[in-house]
Amino acid sequence: MAEVYSFEDLIHWNALTAGWQLPGRLAVFGDPVAHSRSPQMHNPALEEAGIPAQYVRLLIREEELPAALRELSRQGFLGTNLTIPHKVAALGLVDRLTDSARHLRTVNTVRVESDGTLSGHNTDGPGLSRAVEEAFGVPLGGQRLLILGAGGGAGRAAAVQSALEGCPALVLANRTLSKVESVAAEIRSLRPETSVTVIDGSPESLNRALSGVDLILNASSVGMKVDDPVLVPAGTFLPRHRVYDMIYAPERTRLLEDAAAAGASVANGLAMLLWQGVLAFEFWFDRPAPVDAMRRGLGL
Ligand code: NAP
Repeated sequence: MAEVYSFEDLIHWNALTAGWQLPGRLAVFGDPVAHSRSPQMHNPALEEAGIPAQYVRLLIREEELPAALRELSRQGFLGTNLTIPHKVAALGLVDRLTDSARHLRTVNTVRVESDGTLSGHNTDGPGLSRAVEEAFGVPLGGQRLLILGAGGGAGRAAAVQSALEGCPALVLANRTLSKVESVAAEIRSLRPETSVTVIDGSPESLNRALSGVDLILNASSVGMKVDDPVLVPAGTFLPRHRVYDMIYAPERTRLLEDAAAAGASVANGLAMLLWQGVLAFEFWFDRPAPVDAMRRGLGL
């Protein structure tokens, strides 16, 4: 069985998978997607729950997303997860949004309803919240927070989630400033008590911001590749910092290495993957997820 399937495969899914013992009924759509560890977590969960289905990776390019979503019900899928670069685009491609997707303005989980329509949901925000508290023993909303990549899908979700949970101060950094201004405006109207600052992520602006925050969250995709740029100059972290990188492959990004070397507490995105997956499973099946099986699947 191939590790990653294509849009072409999806169009011919039922024919392609006719011989499978467990039909492929759940997926993650992304580009890239080969690194996704979601199957390792969801397949043990499906087995433990006695649901005769399997979860697969589908390489879906940006321009293929509208048609790929329409294929879901035709090919008998129960739902899908969405990863880079689909979370924002999906907002306008599903038939309805849950409150979570509407507030966080991104969709990472889609459920196919019995009439074939699609419901878009977001479990990244609440998943991050549980992961941060599990990693550092401090609630997400109780910390002054710097978000790197706050204009991307995951960054936006993290910013809104932390404001909703009562975060006192938020510094939003993004390479493309125009993308983060709308996030800042939304948070100011959603929760005026949260102090919001927007920075461009230059070394000088980061240096200033780091002295006033407790938690630094990397929500950008920088760090996934070995030749990626350095987002925060080594030597600017403080021992009191907590640093959470949403990236989990590689296990330790340069950002986490530099932060740990400065004595900061660090954690990667594997627990966020777990908790957003737990909440996605519960959205698809309307029953408690077998968390221990999912944790074991991820080696957590
Ligand atoms: P996205 O919407 O494509 O956003 C990418 C972000 O990265 C944007 O803010 C972008 O800035 C920034 N960026 C990309 N290249 C950059 C560079 N060279 N320098 C500075 N900034 C750069 O992606 P996403 O869906 O939010 O995902 C972001 C990351 O979070 C990915 O690594 C993803 O795997 C991870 N994630 C993990 C979990 C988990 O469960 N652990 C869940 C969700 C996401 P611009 O706006 O300037 O382009």
